[in-house]
Amino acid sequence: MECLFCRIINGKIPSHKVYEDEHAYAFLDIYPTSRGHTVVLPKEHITSFLEMDEERAAELFASVNRIAKQVIKATEATGTNIGINNGLVAGQTVPHVHVHIIPRYENDGGGS
Ligand code: 5GP
Ligand code: ZN
Repeated sequence: MECLFCRIINGKIPSHKVYEDEHAYAFLDIYPTSRGHTVVLPKEHITSFLEMDEERAAELFASVNRIAKQVIKATEATGTNIGINNGLVAGQTVPHVHVHIIPRYENDGGGS
């Protein structure tokens, strides 16, 4: 059985897509931490960031860089948290590597 995020990439499960290129796919998080919370994944199924080779990791983060700029522009956020929960103990709930782009706003209560 395909993983949840592979099914989203293949269009079997609907998502609010915000970006797609040859290597990456991005959509809005269903339970957003903030307005515009976006999840970016490699199209290829890889469980963990640590299983990616440097070339694939670089490709993923080139897309993350591009998408983060678009998200900032669209939301007019003044900052972002960008990160990966890697492994069960780190809070990874879907075993397909993904990068969170969480826009941050003045006085959004998220700490410094
Ligand atoms: P993790 O906790 O693994 O780092 O992040 C997984 C993220 O995927 C969570 O923030 C969760 O809200 C989001 N998510 C889980 N299932 C779905 C889904 O079916 N659709 C969308 N758009 N997001 C999902
Ligand atoms: Zn997958």
